[in-house]
Amino acid sequence: MVYVALISYTPDPERTIAAAARVSASPAGASQLMQKLTPQAVDRLLTRLISSGHLSVFEHASFTFAIEGISRVTSHQLVRHRMASYTQQSQRYVSLKDFDYITPATIGAKHDLKARYQEMVHAAHSLYLEMLDAGIPAEDARYVLPQAGETKLVMTMNARELIHVCALRLCLRAQWEIVELFEKVKAEVERVAPRLGAELKPKCYRLGYCDEAVSCGIFPTAAEIAERKTKELTSGKG
Ligand SMILES: Cc1cc2nc3c(=O)[nH]c(=O)nc-3n(C[C@H](O)[C@H](O)[C@H](O)COP(=O)(O)OP(=O)(O)OC[C@H]3O[C@@H](n4cnc5c(N)ncnc54)[C@H](O)[C@@H]3O)c2cc1C
Repeated sequence: MVYVALISYTPDPERTIAAAARVSASPAGASQLMQKLTPQAVDRLLTRLISSGHLSVFEHASFTFAIEGISRVTSHQLVRHRMASYTQQSQRYVSLKDFDYITPATIGAKHDLKARYQEMVHAAHSLYLEMLDAGIPAEDARYVLPQAGETKLVMTMNARELIHVCALRLCLRAQWEIVELFEKVKAEVERVAPRLGAELKPKCYRLGYCDEAVSCGIFPTAAEIAERKTKELTSGKG
């Protein structure tokens, strides 16, 4: 099961972002502005920064997460996001005497296939252990391990990148495991920075339409909206 814990973050992250934004148009410095900003002013400022696309100031707040219980399939998707720092448990230095792995629900639901899946994973792990016993280094024996294997990592991401990544990975067109991961990342951010947490949402909620080829159904695609408008115009309703 995906586990996410926020282990550290920029103190007072929303006020830090707001103070940074105010610095650009104020004779006062950031520490003075930090003290003056009311929660209402912070809220208003963050709303304006988001709607006007002035997102660079969101880089001043960073969040560090402990992430466990995800497959290497998902960690591979995760580290494609480059504006972040990652430290992942090494399969070179950690010998995997126990091999925890993820079983997707689609496979878990098919009794026979689930049994064969488990058999295959256990067979791969047995060979891995046999190779370690034969003196093969863990860094080479690991080539036989499946992508289903669980991994642990630490991720640090600033708020701007969190907004961007959640727009992509909370979209239901993304794979279920990374969606679950970012739902938990969002919940952790919301706990300490609710205004910011509310901005961690799929891109369609910001756009008001789906920009994928096929919509999950929450919002229509741009093509569907255009088609609807054309129909309304030709039927005289528009
Ligand atoms: C649903 C889904 C399906 C996907 N399928 C595939 C697939 O089939 N194959 C595949 O290879 N990948 C796939 N990806 C990964 C995708 O192509 C991106 O690599 C990944 O989402 C990282 O996003 P990013 O490049 O926007 O942003 P990040 O790496 O998160 O960077 C954030 C932003 O910083 C800027 N930036 C970062 N680096 C640079 C740079 N070098 N130059 C200029 N600007 C930069 C860009 O504006 C970028 O949007 C998929 C992603 C999703 C969400």
